[in-house]
Amino acid sequence: MANNIYDAIVIGSGISGGWAAKELCEKGLKTLVLERGRDVVHLKDYPTATKNPWDFDHAGKKTIALTKNNSVVSKCYAYNETSEHFFVKDAEHPYIQEKPYDWIRGYQVGGKSLLWARQTQRWSKYDFEGPARDGFGDWPIRYKDIEQWYTHVELFAGISGNYDKLDTLPDGSFLPAWQMNTVEKQMQTNIMKKFADRSVIQGRCAHLTEPQPIHIEQGRQACQARSLCERGCPFGGYFSSNASTIPWAQKTGNLTLQPNSVVHSIIYDEATQKAKGVKVIDAITKKATEYFAKIIFVNASTLNTNLILLNSISKRFPNGLGNDNGLLGKYIAFHNYRGSLSATVDGNLDQYYYGRRPTQPMMPNFRNVHKQETDFLRGYMVFFGAGRSKASAEGIGAEFKEKSTELGGWHVSMMMQGETVPKESNHVRLSADQVDEWGIPQLITSIGYDENDERLLKDFLQVGSELLDAAGCKNISSWDSKQSPGLDIHEMGGVRMGNDPKTSLLNSWNQLHHCKNVFVTDGACMTSTSTQNPSLTFMALTARAANFAVEALKKGDL
Ligand SMILES: Cc1cc2nc3c(=O)[nH]c(=O)nc-3n(C[C@H](O)[C@H](O)[C@H](O)COP(=O)(O)OP(=O)(O)OC[C@H]3O[C@@H](n4cnc5c(N)ncnc54)[C@H](O)[C@@H]3O)c2cc1C
Repeated sequence: MANNIYDAIVIGSGISGGWAAKELCEKGLKTLVLERGRDVVHLKDYPTATKNPWDFDHAGKKTIALTKNNSVVSKCYAYNETSEHFFVKDAEHPYIQEKPYDWIRGYQVGGKSLLWARQTQRWSKYDFEGPARDGFGDWPIRYKDIEQWYTHVELFAGISGNYDKLDTLPDGSFLPAWQMNTVEKQMQTNIMKKFADRSVIQGRCAHLTEPQPIHIEQGRQACQARSLCERGCPFGGYFSSNASTIPWAQKTGNLTLQPNSVVHSIIYDEATQKAKGVKVIDAITKKATEYFAKIIFVNASTLNTNLILLNSISKRFPNGLGNDNGLLGKYIAFHNYRGSLSATVDGNLDQYYYGRRPTQPMMPNFRNVHKQETDFLRGYMVFFGAGRSKASAEGIGAEFKEKSTELGGWHVSMMMQGETVPKESNHVRLSADQVDEWGIPQLITSIGYDENDERLLKDFLQVGSELLDAAGCKNISSWDSKQSPGLDIHEMGGVRMGNDPKTSLLNSWNQLHHCKNVFVTDGACMTSTSTQNPSLTFMALTARAANFAVEALKKGDL
């Protein structure tokens, strides 16, 4: 047992767990990071990162066999022969879909930080205030409480972007932005001329356009715009736990990183009324071991964090750790990605754009920002991009080769990222009789769309068409993918923050109201989803909570 005592335990080594590890280790805490998946060491364990299409059996594509064997994760756009080793195998990690839910997971050191699309926008004051105005959630913090922590993570991670001066999307500490192409610039001008309240800006992303000394010190280099990111980046050109926070924490000498360690539950000490450690099942031998620490950060990613807490039962908490109000696992929300549009743009055939760029233009939400204006609550962010399609080539031999290098005209695609309203009925719970290979109850997902989501989608499809028309596009078409929740990969909630312990699980510092030395700082803590991609906010909340935890420990408050 003496060997198993640490100052802090972090569950999960993905985006948020990596940040917890970095902050806690830097502040001198002996920190154990427990990761259920295998180790993935930066540079060494990116087996496909420098391969060419002809080095793969199927040119790197998604094969029929891969899709058949992994019907859930293979729906993710980033899943193919080059990246499948960073996704779970569906059959090995079963869960029960009471309603259709595509749970996309990456179980390894680094978690989904190896796979993410790296779009990183701050939330604005409207995002923290809005849910209370609309009567469905009460954030215990406001933009000003998190502002410095956004800066803190942006400087270290490296975020590219323009200073756009928008109150709906606050500026951060940016590296130079990526460029828009000619057609995108034209569209930007046309849209903003027609709609004074709608801004088109370049997407902000976690790529090093101009590495600073802090990034060089991490061993990272400029992004090469290879667009092969989901294979792992040997340049460290984008932010991942593997390239950035984990090796940084390792350098302090305070980190113990333990892969293949499936956290079964958190152990509650009835005498001290605190958590005292965690029970871990070895992923390979299935042997159970207990580890102990003064504070525990739960960063297993939204739904797994819910699962661990629901499975952490004791005499004091028979329904899951901290779950006095019965709301643990409830109010799960996500992003509505169902709407897309496409169009063409005439002319500009003397313009060529190579297209390798890790982001695209976007429009911050302009719906219901200052007051309720529509027949649905909340709003959506819009992403679009323009590129030249390949001319369709038929035939064989030299003629075919020649034709297939020709380019067609310009086409545009547009998509939405809609906020969904957290509801008690959208929930996860534990199966009473089905367990996984490690003896842990399987998760039941009961998460679906509602009437508000349908109205918001309808509005986007109409507004998107107006935007493309104003931008000068032709042949506009739109569709509803009808995709299930989950495929957005922005699941949030279940352990939400709030001031009132009767309606929330966590306080303003991400501590469980009823078990103060347990911190939840991944997506599970989110009171609402906003319209922005969420991970930058998970990072900022994690850094904020970790620094609070260290101070509280020093004062003897934990
Ligand atoms: C293709 C793709 C594109 C995305 N694009 C974006 C984007 O552009 N912008 C954005 O903001 N977000 C994006 N996301 C989402 C982003 O990846 C997640 O929000 C983020 O990774 C969540 O961080 P996390 O630390 O909560 O979880 P993860 O990064 O998933 O890490 C969780 C870790 O916990 C481990 N774990 C789970 N259960 C246990 C257990 N019981 N015991 C021990 N360890 C456990 C997992 O193995 C994993 O390593 C994208 C995701 C994908 C897959």
